[in-house]
Amino acid sequence: MTLLRKLLHDYCPSCKQPLITKKSNVFSAEVIKTCPKGHYKKEFHPAIETYIETTKSEIS
Ligand SMILES: [Zn+2]
Repeated sequence: MTLLRKLLHDYCPSCKQPLITKKSNVFSAEVIKTCPKGHYKKEFHPAIETYIETTKSEIS
């Protein structure tokens, strides 16, 4: 449940806006959250219980 709470309360580290949740595949529990302005992306892969975070720092 701790991981799920984190997924529900994520904000972009750059602009502090709430991240947008996308389900990549209806047959998968994989969740992708992105900043509405494209600064930041976080993917959660339940099979390996791992987050993959991407920060697009070079966006102007
Ligand atoms: Zn942002």
